[in-house]
Amino acid sequence: GADLRLSGLVKRYGGTAAVENVDLEVASGEFLTLLGPSGSGKTTTLSMIAGFTEPSGGSVVIDGQEITAVPPHKRGLGMVFQNYSLFPHLSVRENVEFPLRQRGVAKAERARRAMEALELVELQGRANAKPSQLSGGQQQRVALARALVFEPRLLLMDEPFGALDRALRERLQVELRRLHHELGITVVFVTHDQEEALTLSDRIAVFNEGRIEQVGTPEELYERP
Ligand code: ADP
Ligand code: ADP
Repeated sequence: GADLRLSGLVKRYGGTAAVENVDLEVASGEFLTLLGPSGSGKTTTLSMIAGFTEPSGGSVVIDGQEITAVPPHKRGLGMVFQNYSLFPHLSVRENVEFPLRQRGVAKAERARRAMEALELVELQGRANAKPSQLSGGQQQRVALARALVFEPRLLLMDEPFGALDRALRERLQVELRRLHHELGITVVFVTHDQEEALTLSDRIAVFNEGRIEQVGTPEELYERP
């Protein structure tokens, strides 16, 4: 996985700072979570890493390369959001192939890699189904397969399990940990759920009012029984 460095990152809307002077380093292969209450600047920070939101100041550096001017689709990032947006008219396999199609990967190669990605999330048996035939959790696993299919150097996830019930959420957390371990990918994960952050993360950056208040391992930040 890539390493990531945010330096003095700022986002202002009008006179108000949504993100104020955020400094953060994420090591290659690390699972780092941005944790904080609603409105604390987590999504805005993630969106600046993704390239959807232009910073008002500061820089985003991936593997030593300043990428503030690089458009989102050229940053080599995989993304999964809470409101997964699978294409309803495409099959599961076609959805997963989509990023490869955009990159001009040939048809046979696309199909092979899509099936591999579906195996990672244990949905190879549903390749020909339409998204509407899948449960919410299965749809989110398809979204994860689609994010992983081009072997991104960095995976960004914004409350990916927020819409799922508790049991499903816990199963997908276990699955995500396994995948992270297996693939060695760098992950930046956003949640407002402290327990989820503690379960998943190597390190946690605690956001409050647009700033990082603390960064540390779960053990450093919270006493665990
Ligand atoms: P979080 O992800 O922690 O819930 P956000 O990053 O979404 O927080 O929002 C941080 C602050 O920035 C909030 O006060 C939010 O209302 C504000 N904000 C986010 N996006 C915009 C926008 N496009 N225009 C104006 N204000 C915004
Ligand atoms: P989250 O659930 O991550 O906190 P929000 O519901 O705050 O997300 O924001 C959803 C979308 O609306 C985002 O694209 C965000 O940038 C935008 N947004 C958030 N707050 C504002 C705001 N005050 N004005 C304009 N857009 C906003």
